[in-house]
Amino acid sequence: MSIKVTLLNHTPNPEKTIAMAAKLCYSASDIDDIKSGLDEEKTTAFLEMLNGLGHASPTEHVCFTFGIEGISRACSHQLVRHRIASYSQQSQRYVDGNKFEYVTPPEIEKNAKAHKAYDELISLQTKAYTQIRDALAAQYARDYDKTLSGTDEEVLEQLKNENKASYSAFIKKANEDARFILPNACTTKLVCTFNARSLNNFFAIRCCNRAQWEIREVAYQMLMLVKEVAPTLFKDSGPSCVRGACAEGKMSCGKAQEVRKKYGK
Ligand SMILES: Cc1cc2nc3c(=O)[nH]c(=O)nc-3n(C[C@H](O)[C@H](O)[C@H](O)COP(=O)(O)OP(=O)(O)OC[C@H]3O[C@@H](n4cnc5c(N)ncnc54)[C@H](O)[C@@H]3O)c2cc1C
Repeated sequence: MSIKVTLLNHTPNPEKTIAMAAKLCYSASDIDDIKSGLDEEKTTAFLEMLNGLGHASPTEHVCFTFGIEGISRACSHQLVRHRIASYSQQSQRYVDGNKFEYVTPPEIEKNAKAHKAYDELISLQTKAYTQIRDALAAQYARDYDKTLSGTDEEVLEQLKNENKASYSAFIKKANEDARFILPNACTTKLVCTFNARSLNNFFAIRCCNRAQWEIREVAYQMLMLVKEVAPTLFKDSGPSCVRGACAEGKMSCGKAQEVRKKYGK
């Protein structure tokens, strides 16, 4: 499955919510008054003023919740390094890994030799995962019920037929250790929630060409989705070169023009 980001939810009227907070900061308004008169034009003016001042804290009042699927564990590990966000990730204990899906990087896909080695190793890992899981689960079953006998497969089959709850508990316990051999390439799914300030930091770092291709694609899809619901708020979001000079110094990709074009600048 390819990378897919869905905007699951967001604070209602995100731009107006930020404008309310800004209005409170910069006027003598009472709380009862901060909603009144905030038409589209005034809301935009408040957002542009905040942007110009670099006053980002009012943007913390709005949150965006995304569903992300089809990414590798290598990518999700980078994503969860962003501490100013909340995450729920599919568990490798509760979801069996014996038929795991995996991501193949495009550069590996293009190289026949690398692709062959990659697929061979994944196939070995799949087999080993099942062997380890079944050996452990059968051991737990034998420890639990001394009357069970036969091969690992027979023991597990017997338990599955006689005591489904124990079978499922032992498989989950075995998954806990079998997952140690799963590769970074394994696909994963997450739900994450960012406030707009943290999102802008995320976009600055991860939409940049210096970021790894997979998380860059995730960040790009996230940005396109939030732009649809809060176009003024995210007007200048993206890598640093979208707002001016590249901030990467010697590490710059040297493709600022191309990147600006991608982000409509
Ligand atoms: C190209 C690239 C290469 C990278 N290489 C590596 C690498 O080799 N090794 C590695 O470990 N990581 C690496 N990272 C990850 C990077 O160091 C950050 O951990 C990650 O991008 C999260 O960014 P963040 O801290 O800004 O985000 P968040 O954790 O969401 O933090 C947001 C902001 O809050 C503030 N903040 C959060 N926590 C603290 C704190 N404890 N103290 C002070 N301020 C805080 C900071 O201003 C921070 O920018 C790399 C990232 C990129 C984009």
